[in-house]
Amino acid sequence: MVKVKRIYMFGEGTKEQKNLLGGKGANLSEMKTMGVPVPAGYTITTEMCTDYYANGGKNSDELLADMREYTKRLEEETGKKFGSDTDPLLLSVRSGARVSMPGMMDTILNLGLTDSAVAAMIAKTGNPKFVWDIYRRFIQMFGEVVQGVEYELFDNVLETIKEENGYKGDLELTAADWKSVATQYLAIVAKATGKPFPQDPMVQLEMAVNAVFESWDTPRAVIYRDHNGIAHHWGTAVNVQEMVFGNTGDNSGTGVLFTRNPKTGEKETWGEFLFNAQGEDIVAGIRTPLKLAEFAEVSPKIYKELTDILDNLEAHYHDMQDVEFTIEEGVLFLLQTRNGKRTGAAGIKIAVDMHEEGLLTKKEAVNSIDVNAIDQLLHPVFNEEAMANAEILTTGLAASPGAATGKIVFSSEKAAKIKDETGEKLLLFRKETSPEDIEGMIVCEGFVTQLGGMTSHAAVVARGMGKCCVSGCGELSINEEEGYMTINGVKYPELTPFSIDGTTGNVYAGTIETKDPEFSEEFQTILNWASEIKTLGVKANADNKRDAEQALKFGAEGIGLCRTEHMFFDEERILDVRRMIIADNTADREEALAKILPHQLKDFTELFTAMEGKTVCIRLLDPPLHEFLPQLDEVPEVAKDLGIKPEVLERTLETLHEFNPMLGHRGCRLAVTYPEISVMQAKAIIMAAIAVAKSGKVVKPEIMIPLIATVAELKYLKAFIKETADNLIAEAGIDLDYKIGTMVETPRAALVGGQVGEEAEFISYGTNDLTQMTFGFSRDDAGKFLKEYATKKIIPNDPFAAVDQEGVGQLVEMCTKNAKTSNPNIVIGVCGEHGGEPSSIDFFHRTGLDYVSCSPFRIPVAIVAAAQAELRNK
Ligand code: PEP
Ligand code: MG
Repeated sequence: MVKVKRIYMFGEGTKEQKNLLGGKGANLSEMKTMGVPVPAGYTITTEMCTDYYANGGKNSDELLADMREYTKRLEEETGKKFGSDTDPLLLSVRSGARVSMPGMMDTILNLGLTDSAVAAMIAKTGNPKFVWDIYRRFIQMFGEVVQGVEYELFDNVLETIKEENGYKGDLELTAADWKSVATQYLAIVAKATGKPFPQDPMVQLEMAVNAVFESWDTPRAVIYRDHNGIAHHWGTAVNVQEMVFGNTGDNSGTGVLFTRNPKTGEKETWGEFLFNAQGEDIVAGIRTPLKLAEFAEVSPKIYKELTDILDNLEAHYHDMQDVEFTIEEGVLFLLQTRNGKRTGAAGIKIAVDMHEEGLLTKKEAVNSIDVNAIDQLLHPVFNEEAMANAEILTTGLAASPGAATGKIVFSSEKAAKIKDETGEKLLLFRKETSPEDIEGMIVCEGFVTQLGGMTSHAAVVARGMGKCCVSGCGELSINEEEGYMTINGVKYPELTPFSIDGTTGNVYAGTIETKDPEFSEEFQTILNWASEIKTLGVKANADNKRDAEQALKFGAEGIGLCRTEHMFFDEERILDVRRMIIADNTADREEALAKILPHQLKDFTELFTAMEGKTVCIRLLDPPLHEFLPQLDEVPEVAKDLGIKPEVLERTLETLHEFNPMLGHRGCRLAVTYPEISVMQAKAIIMAAIAVAKSGKVVKPEIMIPLIATVAELKYLKAFIKETADNLIAEAGIDLDYKIGTMVETPRAALVGGQVGEEAEFISYGTNDLTQMTFGFSRDDAGKFLKEYATKKIIPNDPFAAVDQEGVGQLVEMCTKNAKTSNPNIVIGVCGEHGGEPSSIDFFHRTGLDYVSCSPFRIPVAIVAAAQAELRNK
């Protein structure tokens, strides 16, 4: 029979055993082996926590026997005795899961104190003030944490003594005062529990270990795990460790530090220290701690000893450490080390510096980057100090990252007007946005919409522009006409200052100061290293020269999606698109198209020029009609602009009305009905390519047909496009390579991937539509109920944000395999919003895609995520 090892002495385990010993326990073991001074102790494994729950909330007799045996070993190691009348061993009992869950679980300090141990300690230390102080701390902590005594019951005792004696701070209390506090606390616990305070240290220890196991399953711990994706079955370990005291007098103290500055990454020891204090005094913030530099001045010898250990720890862990330490009577002990949390900017600086110091290889440096923190470096963020008083009014979907403040406006026209007149910073709040809002979106700092999800118009446009956006904010109600909005019943008139955070989805009242992002040299270095490592291509979704240039700056290798309908958002152009849509005969449509052609020609020429030598994939028109048609109340004005009668426009709108525009007459369906649209676009693309090629630049145009469900649609349209393109190229008499491919964004197209592969030179997955159609969740409406789905754990993530690997992913895998079999030369990528999301990027890498394409501001994230996917899956 294999003997179960339930407990590890510090030094028996290693840092790799986090799953079994928890993060804290594994690192304490490791430090002990390294020779770092850590107080003696042992770790009860996480498996024992799982056992505790499996036994219905009880520890096994075997574990209790092992605890007695290991406590004996502790006595031998320390030379002290648990419950001794002369030299008692005192213990701390702390939780420690695989990943840190700060403040979520319980800790008990000074365990082992009893009336007789107190007497022994007083005799040994000659310091009754200190001993009574730690006894009262222990009684309160044990009473509250282990025995469930209400904390309010302890409240008045200390305050009364201070008041009666006119003391300002705790340090003024005398030994007699602390004794009085402890005695009163003992009575409080006895009264509340109906039993005297336990005077057997072993009973205290068993009760404390139970309490730590119980704290794994408190509601707050469960919520924390849900929020942070920590599995409920992991359980916590328990660390039982000899107490060392930072509060025995002025020769003692306690501190917390980071081995590098966690905000900037600067190589400097950064933290705080308090003389004559226990760790919780720093956290509680009752006294003002010293900066470490001040501590170094007062105690240079210990400081030197400490920094030598820190250098050693960094070299050993190859990472910045977050350390807790205590000095007892001039002797230094380390109580904890772990990899320190840091800002995105600090993470990057530390990775690059550690490579230069020889601590990390380039690969390790790239792997150490928290890819989700990169966003902080690309968008404004709120100033941390300013956040202290911020009040969250409501939360929507975190649709496009960054922070912004400004006065609220409810219409794009008004936004443009106010901006023009006053230049003030504005935030656009709308029920939803449409192409007509583009003017307002350009002048505003950020957007909030009541409806819509992660792939709504507002979300997609915001990401493209690098502005922040909160969508699907259901508690919001906007009364545009009367110029106010309400959030949970409270009214806010137009021009009220607000702040929004598209990284969290939070909406705040008032102005919160923001900080601009910094694109540091180290960041560029990490991007360069990541680019060398990754094998997946990273391209950009860009519809204009500005976005293309931004994407290039971030390292885009081409344009993977140019949404041509986005090129018509401009007021003058939208009119021609509307003319084209409402035309009831080919002649009128061709007339409208002829007006659009020069605009397209100019746009494409700019894109090809900007992207010289790189692929530019232009998708043929795919306007969900409702996004381009006027609302009923806009009919009179739009009819006037179009030069037709309002009744005629109204009738046309009725004919064009669709019940499900997202599943309606859009994409290639529009082109099948009106091939002249594709012909015009193919002309514009090839004419632009010829012009740029003639100017001596290399052009690589790709023409992409959207939303096919059958290969016949692709064949039908390809014939028109090819004929148009080949004729133009022949006329120009130059060599010009172009490709025709398609998007796979309907489940049927994915199912017939083998056939699609035979016809297409490339495939790009439109995972926004593919998600919509696979789940049957409308992209425009899913925001309303998806939050509920997440809360009730029906689905783990918003499938419009992170690709659903199980369902949608299966279609992608199958289609990729079949398309590559029928056409080994085919190039396959993805251009849905998932192309910039790290977990999706990992999936696309594993599936063997050639590239991902995402909004310009997500390119750095995609590059690092692609490199990490390569390293992870090697
Ligand atoms: C998609 O559907 O994933 C896509 C890229 O196209 P759009 O978002 O424009 O529908
Ligand atoms: Mg699509």
